[in-house]
Amino acid sequence: MAKEFWIGDVQAGDHDGVEVELMGWIKRTRGSNKIRFIVLRDSTGTIQCVVKKDAVGEEAFEEIKNSLIEASVILKGIVNVDERAPGGHELVVSSAEVVGAVRPETPFPITQSAMQAADGGETEFLLDNRHLYLRTSRMTTMLKIRSSVFGAIHSYFRDLKFTEYHAPNFVAGAVEGGSTLFEVPYFGKKVYLTQSWQLYAEAAMPALERLYTIAPSFRAEKSRTRRHLTEFWHAEMEVAWAGNSDIMEHGEALVRNIAKTVLEEREDDLKSIDRDLDLIARYADSPYPRIRYDEAVETLQGLGVDIEWGQDLDYSKEKILTQDFDVPHFLTHYPKIAKPFYHRVDPEDDKYVLCHDLLAPEGYGEIVGGGERTWSEQEILARIDEEGVPREPYQFYIDTRTYGGVPHGGFGLGVDRVVSWLSGADHIREVIPFPRDSRRVTP
Ligand code: ATP
Ligand code: MG
Repeated sequence: MAKEFWIGDVQAGDHDGVEVELMGWIKRTRGSNKIRFIVLRDSTGTIQCVVKKDAVGEEAFEEIKNSLIEASVILKGIVNVDERAPGGHELVVSSAEVVGAVRPETPFPITQSAMQAADGGETEFLLDNRHLYLRTSRMTTMLKIRSSVFGAIHSYFRDLKFTEYHAPNFVAGAVEGGSTLFEVPYFGKKVYLTQSWQLYAEAAMPALERLYTIAPSFRAEKSRTRRHLTEFWHAEMEVAWAGNSDIMEHGEALVRNIAKTVLEEREDDLKSIDRDLDLIARYADSPYPRIRYDEAVETLQGLGVDIEWGQDLDYSKEKILTQDFDVPHFLTHYPKIAKPFYHRVDPEDDKYVLCHDLLAPEGYGEIVGGGERTWSEQEILARIDEEGVPREPYQFYIDTRTYGGVPHGGFGLGVDRVVSWLSGADHIREVIPFPRDSRRVTP
């Protein structure tokens, strides 16, 4: 049964003039009582297949003729080079078998018109039928680009000898702040779903020195935006003997490497969704400028935006700020009052912390957040107390400093956000198979 031939390879010219057995699903079907034109799809592409009654016999022909869209079939035949056929090849079928029929009472619900109504976006209907929507060419394309982004992240870190490291998903304390914590009942106690791998990575920093992960993080984001999920994929890294600037260098190199990989591996996929390849080439090739938070606030104020020094930048402000960016920009040195205790205070001016966000252009905004950690025991205790955070849940974190603390830091990159930005999606939901947000946990 194992599948030997892939439509993508056939269309690439690997099997011209020879007999192949194609296994796939019917994407479109038309024709007469004697000849059927089937557009067959598999995970690698589509090809037109010509099925003649004379060639396959009456019984098989009737089955194919009565087959509806998304029925699964095996078609055997000779690959013909044909300029007029989409993709340049056509299968002249000699035998046909229907494997999984689609019943007439239950036709495939995602029709051409439902897709057109959604216009690349996602209606409730398509979200309700997500499990079926996955097979459409747009979603398949997004999933392939997504896979390349994950691959690029693993390669980047592994090439630099980082160790992949795993943290628990049930945790006792907050990383990002209480307002987005998911509470979980846990044998009569309350625990939380993790918002980040960071604190547990810091505990292993003296063991591994260079570590990374790609794992889900959970945040109870109440406001629904085009860039927030409640469960998202978080690529995080932590590195010893490094300061804020070293960590930004990694962030920049990683994002550029992702853009480069996506261009190399997914050029055709990007074209199929009308993505401008020159933009992605620019993101791969250009350096990313760094600006300080204070400058950004001045710029925004100059544009008439209502923002006060000390406020974090939310999406509406990032959108305005990134309007004129042609490549991602780092925003550095946020006010201490805007950030949690683990951000290291700038020794040159204690109003600021040594942190950074990387903001993507085209209105996408923050894709990476990171910085240097508060790494001495004395400073971490002072910061925890100053913020009124209880010490007890963070004792393991404090211990990391008690026993041989060293300068270190890291960042978190929202993988879904990066996929959404690089593919030019309108909404983060478009690039994850089963999106989770405050209203939807099904299918
Ligand atoms: P935002 O201000 O956009 O909510 P954040 O400051 O809360 O982001 P961090 O805590 O720095 O984000 O998390 C690191 C990265 O994880 C972010 O830069 C972003 O790319 C991603 N991220 C954070 N929250 C979400 C979310 N709810 N859905 C998808 N990605 C997210
Ligand atoms: Mg957030």
